[in-house]
Amino acid sequence: MIKLHDLYFKPFISEDEVDTIVERMVNDIANDMQDEVPVFVGILNGSFMFVSDFVKKYPKPCEVTFIKLASYEGLKSSEDIHRLIGLTQDLSGRKVVILEDIIDSGNTLEEVNRIFENENVDELKIATLFYKPEAYKKDYKLHYIGKEIPNKFIVGYGLDYNGLGRDLPAIYQLKTTQYMTNLVLFGPPGAGKGTQAEFLKETYNLVHISTGDVFRFNIKNETALGMLAKSYMDKGELVPDQVTIDMLNAEVEKNADANGFIFDGFPRTHAQAEALDKLMDSKDSQINAMIALEVDDEVLVGRLLERGKTSGRKDDANETVIRNRITEYYKKTAILKDYYTAQDKYFGVDGVGSIADITKRLNAVIDTL
Ligand code: AMP
Repeated sequence: MIKLHDLYFKPFISEDEVDTIVERMVNDIANDMQDEVPVFVGILNGSFMFVSDFVKKYPKPCEVTFIKLASYEGLKSSEDIHRLIGLTQDLSGRKVVILEDIIDSGNTLEEVNRIFENENVDELKIATLFYKPEAYKKDYKLHYIGKEIPNKFIVGYGLDYNGLGRDLPAIYQLKTTQYMTNLVLFGPPGAGKGTQAEFLKETYNLVHISTGDVFRFNIKNETALGMLAKSYMDKGELVPDQVTIDMLNAEVEKNADANGFIFDGFPRTHAQAEALDKLMDSKDSQINAMIALEVDDEVLVGRLLERGKTSGRKDDANETVIRNRITEYYKKTAILKDYYTAQDKYFGVDGVGSIADITKRLNAVIDTL
């Protein structure tokens, strides 16, 4: 990730991929030009790197010139296009290929077409390295497109954010969610995740998602998801991954404006952890830490039997089911410790003691993140 001025950008298109795209465009255009000597017209400033790499790869004689237009103001493509340097040579009768770094709204292209209106060129073709179809509002034909990209602000390879970033050899994309804190609260059943999540969500203004609670809510309301989950939950087994992942994605989508999330009871399998990373990535975010409450099995069994007296949870009432849940945890879930340790994100916290003491221990970890 890089920072330009006040904003963060994440890697989007590598140097190698840009090179492959440019190469393909060179081949397509060289084939179409046959024996003509084309004039390539770069649109400054953004296209300087693209034009440079393009003509270096171009296998036949060509001419290169530039026009200089200004359109971007900060992050927005402005309607107001300034012509700073227009055409400085006569191109009548020539085959002209415009080389643009990016076409989004099409406003710059409109100005380019205006410039060429009375030039009597033999042929005017438009080639753009990047194209944002969702943003394009004009109907000029684009003859050569390097890569279609989503309507997100990018920098690098000639493109800038308020002057910075043009020198980067690869393309970076604006991170739209800048400051989320996402925690996985981890530990065996009965470790106290739910209790502690209540305090953490207040202190750090986070949305708490407990997959167990969501399933129980669905069971209570007799939804299709609830009916499906019930058969597994009653035995202390895990609900199948795809069902759980789809449910979690929906819960996160419901809270699109959150400062961050506490995931409690999720992920419980490797597939769920990967799905969570993918989901966070789609939000331009990430899991910051897995914080695990560590508690001995026998303490857990005692706590859950005690909770079962008042919680009304079937899976807390029966010692066999409780032990099965703990076994499921070690069989399927404990491997996630390695998953997050490998990313330097695992933090173990002693989960035995008073509720307030354990909260303090958790806060101490989160405050260092
Ligand atoms: P919990 O309230 O976290 O102890 O979860 C209660 C039960 O809900 C578990 O024993 C599972 O049957 C089901 N469950 C909750 N979260 C998940 C998950 N991430 N993956 C699969 N099953 C889950």
